Amino acid sequence: MGNPKAFLTIHRQEAGYRPIEERIDDFSEVEQTLNSSDRRTQASRCMDCGIPFCHWACPIGNKQPEWQDLLYKGKWREAYRLLEQTCDFPEFTGRVCPALCEKSCVLKLSCEEPVTIRENEVAIIEVAFREGFIQPVQPVRKGKRVAVIGSGPAGLTAANQLNRKGYDVTVFEKYELPGGLLRFGIPNFKLGKNIIDRRIRLMEQEGVTFRVNTMVGNEVSAKEIASTFDAVCVAIGSEVPRDLPIEGRNLKGVHFALELLSQQNRILEGINIPPKNIINCKGKKVLVIGGGDTGSDCVGTANRHKAASITQIEIMPQPPVGHNPATPWPMYPQVLKTSSSHEEGCIRRWNLASVRFIGDKNILKGVEVEEVEWLPAQAGGRPEMRKTGHKEVIEADLVFLAMGFVHPEQEGLIKELSLAVDERKNIAINPATNRVGNTNVFACGDAVSGASLVVRAMASGRQAAKGIDKYLSV
Ligand SMILES: Cc1cc2nc3c(=O)[nH]c(=O)nc-3n(C[C@H](O)[C@H](O)[C@H](O)COP(=O)(O)OP(=O)(O)OC[C@H]3O[C@@H](n4cnc5c(N)ncnc54)[C@H](O)[C@@H]3O)c2cc1C
Ligand code: SF4
Repeated sequence: MGNPKAFLTIHRQEAGYRPIEERIDDFSEVEQTLNSSDRRTQASRCMDCGIPFCHWACPIGNKQPEWQDLLYKGKWREAYRLLEQTCDFPEFTGRVCPALCEKSCVLKLSCEEPVTIRENEVAIIEVAFREGFIQPVQPVRKGKRVAVIGSGPAGLTAANQLNRKGYDVTVFEKYELPGGLLRFGIPNFKLGKNIIDRRIRLMEQEGVTFRVNTMVGNEVSAKEIASTFDAVCVAIGSEVPRDLPIEGRNLKGVHFALELLSQQNRILEGINIPPKNIINCKGKKVLVIGGGDTGSDCVGTANRHKAASITQIEIMPQPPVGHNPATPWPMYPQVLKTSSSHEEGCIRRWNLASVRFIGDKNILKGVEVEEVEWLPAQAGGRPEMRKTGHKEVIEADLVFLAMGFVHPEQEGLIKELSLAVDERKNIAINPATNRVGNTNVFACGDAVSGASLVVRAMASGRQAAKGIDKYLSV
């Protein structure tokens, strides 16, 4: 630790976002960067606590205090070397991770000013790419083949780990381009897709084969995969969105959030969308149902389309600002999140349940909502919702449903693959190795956990790779 007292005099400084009036006109990343001197000053704030809770909080076990120290000393190459030991893709986590580590930082717990760990992480990896610290490695080959199904952060991590161990890895992806939700879910203004392309290029140079437009179970059968490869890693995500089956659900104008988000990302990739399918919010009254991050991504997208108005509603109550006594550390703090998209303009409302979609000649005109209240949990149970009878209609031309994903819906493929090699029908996933029964099939990411986070998918991908390596090494 270079400067043991820095945290007493230096305050947290975030790089912040580009000005709203500028960023609202494009889909480029909104987050800015600090110059390297200020970045190093921020790294100096890390106290290298006796027990660094940030280690514990990070699902991939990043060694934050150690690389903060190297960063502070200007040893960027060494900082990168340490970071890459635990994190396959810091350029993704450094941009989109909700920074679980920062919620556990002692400087957060003591004075609400955690070290800027996430931003420091992305600064290290960007310098590493820029300065050429990252060069393709050519592992010694073992002569064994692994199929990875799905190219989201879980599949990419498993592929990267296994390839670097010398396995011949083929990644199967049903869509046009690899990346999973990094590519066709998370908006470009949070994660530029050139960042994914750069990593995929590197992985290809290192020997990973990507087969896009190839759906396992369709273009290639589960049986063929199971018999051609020595092991299979299923990383197919959790793709079925939670629906809202109320009156009027089939009206024109009601969409799942991902219909908007994935389409927008495809348009920005130059992928052709038939004009009749294009969802454009320009001049429309937009209502987003669901108060979480996916909903916030819809808000940012609708603002860039120049919607006439945007409202985001949530059935749960508004969480407190800053600190929530109901979720003390080490629980994840349930506090009000104001994203860059919210800052750009949107009405946010809470305690509203959707009653019915209202339309005219099959076209959406609004949503009837009812105010609800939440009664405190009885004996540790869940809070109880009570309808108040106060109803109103929110006018809307477009509704985006952002209420999470249903899980598990992908059991089908995992089961199919496993049964192709093991007729004993044991398809339980071993949580320690990610192995499915006694088969050569392993599973990871959202497909196993349900919808989660990029960093958790990456942690799971690493664990599956470890399990596969162990399995193929005996
Ligand atoms: C809109 C949105 C925004 C998000 N924002 C964030 C964020 O800011 N930060 C964060 O940490 N997390 C975020 N998340 C969550 C995060 O993206 C996911 O938890 C993560 O991507 C899961 O990774 P995965 O690899 O398990 O699955 P996915 O990323 O879903 O990848 C699965 C891949 O498998 C492919 N596939 C499926 N079936 C087959 C098949 N049969 N054959 C071949 N390929 C197949 C799919 O096409 C897909 O490419 C967001 C999620 C959404 C929906
Ligand atoms: S991956 Fe997320 S939790 Fe881990 S160090 Fe980076 S920002 Fe923190």
